[in-house]
Amino acid sequence: MEKFIGKLFIEGEITLLTGLHIGGSKETGEIGGLDNPVIKTIRGIPYIPGSSLKGKIRCLLERKGGFQPERNEGEPCGCGSCNICLLFGAHSNKNRTISRLIVRDSYLDEEQFIKEVLKNSFEDITYTEEKTENIIDRIKGTAQHPRIMERVPAGAKFKFFSSISFYERDDINSLTKSFIEGLRLLEDDYLGGSGTRGYGHIKFNNLAFYIKNIESYIKNNEKIPITTSKDLSSINIEEIYKEIYNKLQVNQK
Ligand SMILES: [Zn+2]
Repeated sequence: MEKFIGKLFIEGEITLLTGLHIGGSKETGEIGGLDNPVIKTIRGIPYIPGSSLKGKIRCLLERKGGFQPERNEGEPCGCGSCNICLLFGAHSNKNRTISRLIVRDSYLDEEQFIKEVLKNSFEDITYTEEKTENIIDRIKGTAQHPRIMERVPAGAKFKFFSSISFYERDDINSLTKSFIEGLRLLEDDYLGGSGTRGYGHIKFNNLAFYIKNIESYIKNNEKIPITTSKDLSSINIEEIYKEIYNKLQVNQK
């Protein structure tokens, strides 16, 4: 059994630079409802499921490669020992690992949305927009029935929460670096559907890093701040490594 030594928390904001469409289920019995609704909370507010973020980041890291040289192209890794398997879990029954990464569901900053996206117009608070997409029949070259997509408009912000658990024998630097790489790859790719039509361009802002060590859990549950960063480009990774080891009270390998 591997011994747990603490957690790194990476939190911040996700800003939509373009409209976002993460598909939800069409509400049953709704007449004239959209064919392509976005996923929403029970209160009807759009959110970003942690599984969507995690799945996309994993996929981009797998595509980038360099983790497990002998894996089958196009299949999620199941080796049980590379950074992808350690962070996201192995796609294999025999090489099971503890998934170290948790990405929470990201909820909309409603106050910011009303103020900055709706410009304080309270008359009709709606958190999504409708966009008509013409689908071109590739063979005939003619336009088919237009499709109406629901999306969360550009400018919306979501609260982002993630954490990585560390165990005694982990290469802490390497796991942290891989996750940050994944976040950076996601910014230059897209989240959700219709990315090639320009949807789903996101940016991570106002990042904050915290540590909880074993003592935190036993004593006062303190989340120890280590650093902040305005975006993914200004992260001081060396400082983060140093602070993680320092605050976890373990020696750097
Ligand atoms: Zn692997």
